[in-house]
This record gives sequence, structure tokens and C-alpha cells, in this order.
Amino acid sequence: MTSKSAAAAARATVYGYPRQGQNRELKKAIEGYWKGRVTADALRSTATGLRAANWRQLADAGIHEVPTGDFSYYDHVLDTTVMVGAIPERHRSAVEADALAGYFAMARGTQDVAPLEMTKWFDTNYHYLVPELGPDTGFTANSAKQVAELKEALALGLTARPVLVGPVTYLLLAKPAPGVPADFEPLSLLDRLLPVYAEVLADLRAAGAEWVQLDEPAFVQDRTPAELNAVARAYRELGALPDRPKLLIASYFDRLGNALPVLAKAPVEGLALDFTESAAANLDGLAAVGGLPGKRLIAGVVNGRNIWINDLQKSLTTLGTLLGLADRVDVAASCSLLHVPLDASAERDIEPQILRWLAFARQKTAEIVTLARGLARGTDTIAAELAANRADLASRAGSPITRDPAVRDRAGAVTDADARRAQPYAERATAQRAHLGLPLLPTTTIGSFPQTGELRVARADLRAGRIGTAGYEERVKAEIREVIAFQEKAGLDVLVHGEAERNDMVQYFAERLTGYLATQHGWVQSYGTRYVRPPILAGDISRPEPMTVRWTTYAQSLTARPVKGMLTGPVTMLAWSFVRDDQPLGETARQVALALRDEVDDLEASGTSVIQVDEPALRETLPLRAADRSAYLEWATEAFRLTTAGVRPDTQIHTHMCYAEFGDVVQAIDDLDADVISLEAARSHMQVARELAAHGYPREAGPGVYDIHSPRVPSAEEATELLRTGLEAIPAERLWVNPDCGLKTRGWPETRASLENLVSAARRVRGEL
Ligand code: GLN
Ligand code: ZN
Repeated sequence: MTSKSAAAAARATVYGYPRQGQNRELKKAIEGYWKGRVTADALRSTATGLRAANWRQLADAGIHEVPTGDFSYYDHVLDTTVMVGAIPERHRSAVEADALAGYFAMARGTQDVAPLEMTKWFDTNYHYLVPELGPDTGFTANSAKQVAELKEALALGLTARPVLVGPVTYLLLAKPAPGVPADFEPLSLLDRLLPVYAEVLADLRAAGAEWVQLDEPAFVQDRTPAELNAVARAYRELGALPDRPKLLIASYFDRLGNALPVLAKAPVEGLALDFTESAAANLDGLAAVGGLPGKRLIAGVVNGRNIWINDLQKSLTTLGTLLGLADRVDVAASCSLLHVPLDASAERDIEPQILRWLAFARQKTAEIVTLARGLARGTDTIAAELAANRADLASRAGSPITRDPAVRDRAGAVTDADARRAQPYAERATAQRAHLGLPLLPTTTIGSFPQTGELRVARADLRAGRIGTAGYEERVKAEIREVIAFQEKAGLDVLVHGEAERNDMVQYFAERLTGYLATQHGWVQSYGTRYVRPPILAGDISRPEPMTVRWTTYAQSLTARPVKGMLTGPVTMLAWSFVRDDQPLGETARQVALALRDEVDDLEASGTSVIQVDEPALRETLPLRAADRSAYLEWATEAFRLTTAGVRPDTQIHTHMCYAEFGDVVQAIDDLDADVISLEAARSHMQVARELAAHGYPREAGPGVYDIHSPRVPSAEEATELLRTGLEAIPAERLWVNPDCGLKTRGWPETRASLENLVSAARRVRGEL
């Protein structure tokens, strides 16, 4: 095909769409079903209606080929587990008794049976349920969901393409089932799994699928030669099947790197690649392998995981280059639109001018259609859209929100010394010991205390105008009094104010920093029926006034013990927001760090001697490719140090991170130059303490001795055991005693009992020293 006819054939498509519906109907139906208020049939018909509405919306917007099978009641990886029959032993009877109830049991567990583990889907904030496999796992094909959804779309008269998690990525995302040796490699099951995929593909073909998409995003991560061989072999086999649909292998979130030549050679009909900024190397990679002669290329030029409008002209240039490299070039978002909210036009509180800079799923769909039309029929057919896009981009670039000279001057003047504390850790530790006078094995908590129903009511009352600011603040203060009184009575050494004023650890600060936007309806699925509304880090960041000082100083006024100030760190502020795409992340992080630094300095000036800057996202934001990690860690650790380095040597800086598996970032944790770190450790029996020790980590650390993710109250004996284990790795002079994470999701009774046990464990172990 010539590049001209390749252009003429250009089509618009997407890989997936937000599942929840405009008013989160799916969430309501599923949660109603869990509570027994919605029947299974009613839930099914809500879901059918939502799917049809989504497809219609896509088709009406001009999408030529709609995805099917991307819908899920909970998670598409769990759907894949069902599709290949890899139901864990412990869930089998429930699934056989009632497929829908059993499905939710796998996702959420029951009174008696643990759910599948949940973990992040690559570097997004979406969580999938981890398949559990072992040498005895048998696979059986169950294509019912995929076939039914395809038929629904076809019955609407649409061109539809089923989307499946590819077999190799599925295995690479799996872990050994409980009881299976940890060194078991799920990928060793590939030969057993491929026939099941063959059967599903045949069923889809029989049901009318011309194309089927197999997602293999695992290949945008570093892969071993054996894994690359596995994917080559998988598609050789699937490609050789008689009477199969055309196959499209999709990748997203980053560049394919050395997997690109492998997939380009695979005997399949199409490849989908990410061509957004972070994956720009795919363009060179594709040219280097001589393009995809005879194949269909789907070009993900519209960013599917951020909320900014596309630079249409720039995308057209990319598409123009690609035309020479494949038989047919189609236009898509870089990944499923699952990762962005549904519709920006639903936002009422964002200025109309600024709203024009934003593209949620619906607006992105329109961009994709425009680009496909421009490619197929010439740019003069989209002249109006291009002009409007140029104007919107210019309005964003020229806006004082985007560029605040004061912020830029300050960030530009930062020196290396600004991000270094005046004295090395060892000297600071001595000064802090003298200043704080804490016992050995000091006890503390991570920040939040139970967020009671009354607090949520108070916030709702404030929003609805039923109470004024003064009334609301009185309720927060009452909560602080209670939290302080409890901690004194329980005998904790370093107290917290309890974070009663915070709805969310990122949103609270986003609402108080200039340069951030909030949405009303910008819901994005985090897992299952849990949706979050990430704030939008839209412009240059500054802090008009102190954000937390009054709450911390109020708490400090109630007690003679030190009260720890509590802030969210710059990396986490970026990681859990939609971030501006017009400058390097490191520059944005530096601006946020400077704003937070002012807060740290103000806390110190108002008498706070211990300040915690939480960075739970440091590990999870690690780039997918190892080659990109040191650059990330450099700006990330610098931003943390810039936030905290302005304080006196005798002011103690804490940080906190959740989640296990710190192995590959211990050096970065050290580079934060914090005085004390608290980490999640109870479930892994202090594994992280041993990792810190193995690294020679020289600072103070509090590996958690109380697993706050469960309502269970750990006994004093358990906490004592964990502390003794911790002491084998970290000497008493540097060991802190604390829970794993904040207590906001816990109830008061279990929190009281657990913290009392924690304090008595610390006292007992102190007596043994
Ligand atoms: N300070 C926060 C809290 O206690 C930390 C939360 C977190 O680590 N995710 O709630
Ligand atoms: Zn935490």
C-alpha cells in the first residue's frame, strides 16, 4: 500500500472506556448488589445499558471500531482469570455455586476466604487482582463474557474489536499461588495457556470478530531474553491457528524497546504502539526495524492517561511520519481511557477558558476522530478544529496560571545547598536527642486518627452551608482535643493532631495551593467500586498562606509532649494528581517542594520540633524501565530534601512510606536525608528492617508493628515479638515503635486497644535492653 492509500484508510479507535457511567451508576448497582438491595438481574441490566451507552457515545462521536470486553464488574485481569479458568482452589466452590457471587468473593474475600491480592497496574493508580498460579494450575476456556459483549455491540450494528489481556502479560502479572514455592515461574505455564487462548479466539471469530486485540503491556518493561522468546513463541503459535480472527498486539505506557523487533516480526496482522512523549522512542524503534510492511499500525498519539488537550498539529506530524512505515495507520489514545474521567463538559466550577485546556475520555475521543479524519481526508477538512486547538494551546501557554514569574524566579534560583541540611545526620541526631529528650524505642503514630462519621457529617454540613467555618473548626478542634488526650493517656511519646481537617492527604493540600484545580465529577477507577478524583496540577505552584500550622500549634498548645507536624511530600503530590505535561516532572516537583518548604519552615517557627513529610508514592512512581530510574530518583529525592532542608539541626524530619518491597529504593530512601522513616512492615515480619540493615542504612527507622489494614487488634505479645525481630536488624538507639500507616480507616475501639498494646510492648522491650 502506498502511504497515500494508507492515509485514506485511517480509522479512529480506542482500547477501552470508563466503566462507571456519567453518574457512577455501575458503582451504585454493584454496591447495592453486595448489600442485597439490587438483584443480580438488575445489576446485569444496568451493566448492559452502560455498555450500550458507551458504545453509542463512541460511535456517535465518529469512532469506527469500538472495543468490547473492556467492561468489568471489578477488574479486567480478574475477568481474564475467569476466562482461562484459573480460579484459585479456595474460591472454586463459591464460583461453581454462583458465578457472580463467586467473582466478587475472589475480588473482595468473604468472612472465611481471603481475596486475591491487589496491586498496581503498571505505573497507574488502577489496581488489578493478581492471578495465583502453580505447577498444578489447569486452564479451561470460558469465553462467555467476551462472546456475549461482542454480540451486544454487533447487535447494535457497530464494528467491534474484542480486547483481551494477552497470554504472556497475563502470566507475567501472576504470582505463585499460596503454598507454591516462591521461585515458581508462572511463565512456565505458557504452553498450557495458549490452547485456551486459541479456543477463545475461535469462539470470538465464530461470533463475528474480524479483529481481536491482545494487550501485552508487560513488554514496555525490561524483559529477559527468555521472556522475549516466550512472547515470540506465543504469537508464532497463535498466528499459525487456522480460521482465527486478525490479531492486533497492543502495548502502552512506555516504549517497547527490544521487544519491538520481536513483536514486529510476529505473524499477526497489527501492532498498537504508544507514541506519546514518554514513549517517543517507539518512533525510532519502528523506523529501525523497517516499519510494519503489510501490517496495521494503531498509533496511540492522544495521551490516554492524562487530561490535557492534544497538540493536534504535532500528532498529525507524527502520524504523517508513521504513514510511510505501515500498510495502514489508525489513530487511538495511547492506552485505555479507563485512566481518565469521563467528560470534562460536566465540570461547572472550572472557568470556561481553562476547561478548554482539558480533555477527558469524551473529549479525547473527539480528538482521535478529528486526527483520523485529518489523516484520511486531508488537514483542510479539520481546519476549524486545528485553529481552535491552536488557540486553546496558546491560551494555556500564555496564561498566568501556567507561568507565574515569582514562582519561576524562585525555582530558578535554587542551589544545591538549598537542598542540603546544614549538618550531617550524625550531628543532627545528637542535637535532636538533647532537644527532644525521648526514651529509647520512642512510640508514635503515622498521622491520621479514625475519621469518624461526625467529621464527615461536619464537612458535608460545611459544604452545604448548614454550619459556618467557625462551627466546622470548632468540631475539628474538639476532635484534636480528644486525639491528644487519648495519646497522652496511652503514653505515646511523639503525638500527632490526627489530621481531622483532611478529607484526603493530597486533595487537602491541592485545595490550598495556587496552581491546582479540583474537579467535581472527575472520577477515575482505583479498584473495584472505589473511584478517586485526582486534583489537576495545572500551573505554577505557590502557597498563599500556611496550610496546617494552626492545627498543629493548637494540638501542641494542649500538651507538653512534642506534636509532630504532618505534610504530604512533593513526589506524592505529583503522583496522585494529573500533572501538567508542558515541563519536566522534576521542575513541577521543585515548585511543589518550595511551597511545602515554606510550610515546614513556618511549622518550625511556630514551635514544632518534629515534622513528618509523607512520601508513600516514592516507590510506586518508579519508571517502568530501569534505564529511566536514576534520573527520576534524582529529582524525586532532591524535591524531598528541598522541602525539608531549611530547618535547624535539632528539628527532626520524619518521612513515611507504605507498601512492602523497598529493596530497589533503599539507596534513594537514604538519599532523602530524613532523620526518621516509618515503613509498613507488620505483614512481612520486619522484612524491611532487614533490608535497611543490609544496606547499612544509618538513620532511625520505625518498621510498623501494627498492621492497620485489618480491623484485628494485635496483642502486646505480637508487637513485642515484632519489636524483638526489629532489634535484630536495627539497634535500640535507632528503632522507633509505630503502626504501619495512618489510622483514618480504622474505628476508635480497635485503635485504642492496638495503640495501648503497642505502648506496652515498647515498655516491655525497653526493660529488656
Ligand atoms: N500521614 C498520613 C496518614 O496517617 C499517611 C497516609 C499514607 O501513608 N498513605 O493518614
Ligand atoms: Zn502509609
